[in-house]
Amino acid sequence: MRAVRCGVVVLCAGMILGCQPSRPMQGGRGSLPASADVISAERLAERLGLTVAADSGAAVVLRDAANCVTLRLEGGGQADVNGRPAGPRGGFVRIGGVLFVPAMLEEPLRAALRPLPPPAQQPVAQPPAAPGRVIVIDPGHGGKDCGAVSPIGLEEKSVVLPVGLEVARLLREAGHAVILTRDGDVFLTREERAAIANRREADLFVSIHADSAPNPDARGFTVYVCRGASAASRSAADAVAARLDADSGLRNRGVRTADYDVLVLTRCPAILVELGYLSNRQEALLLRQDTVQAALARCIASAIDASVRPGR
Ligand code: ZN
Repeated sequence: MRAVRCGVVVLCAGMILGCQPSRPMQGGRGSLPASADVISAERLAERLGLTVAADSGAAVVLRDAANCVTLRLEGGGQADVNGRPAGPRGGFVRIGGVLFVPAMLEEPLRAALRPLPPPAQQPVAQPPAAPGRVIVIDPGHGGKDCGAVSPIGLEEKSVVLPVGLEVARLLREAGHAVILTRDGDVFLTREERAAIANRREADLFVSIHADSAPNPDARGFTVYVCRGASAASRSAADAVAARLDADSGLRNRGVRTADYDVLVLTRCPAILVELGYLSNRQEALLLRQDTVQAALARCIASAIDASVRPGR
């Protein structure tokens, strides 16, 4: 876990940083039959539109927002899709630490995958003339990770999701290709979130959170960049902070620096927005309102749109 400079965000940071990184691939054994039509687990993931989420040596896990595929080496190999066996058993082999599986597994696995609910994780095709950029919107937490919980029982994961969805909708409307790291109540590690941006070679990564602090009077929004952030990261952060300052009615805690992993692991410009304090009863009451969530989303989307347009 990296040092976090600002004490008031420690609660939230603990939740962001609370996941285990996947273990590296183990040493290989076995050899590839000359005639075998096999593909690596990573290539299979690519073909199925999934991400390699973990490799324990005994199993490789592929995921997207709606599916979990487990490739287990035990007994010659078996693939599970969302907990149920899929495709024929056998033919799995690990060579040089890389898991290979029969290429013919692709079709039965594809058939067993649940469809991603639109507009989940799928960049919208751009009209040819649109000056759009590739923007990843990352609603924090999700699934088993609720994030901060307010005194009124409001969970961070359920505040940041509707804000993220609305930011994504507005940016798509403005002609950008938007990828959501999650569009439902699902858990993703910080590595998976950053990997989505890195694989799609995004132009900007925006993580959305809500804050919490022991002091119940703490309130206001904050925009974070990592230490050594690029000029583009700082410019996007400044734009979002300025727009929230002008239009949100929330107290401006400014642009600050913290090495949150999602900011450090992403190769593109990246910012993290803390919408306000769920630990502050008054602010939690505001943040749970649809109209406030929509207004915050408009501020964030319009600032991002202005900051990523070429020749601005
Ligand atoms: Zn958070």
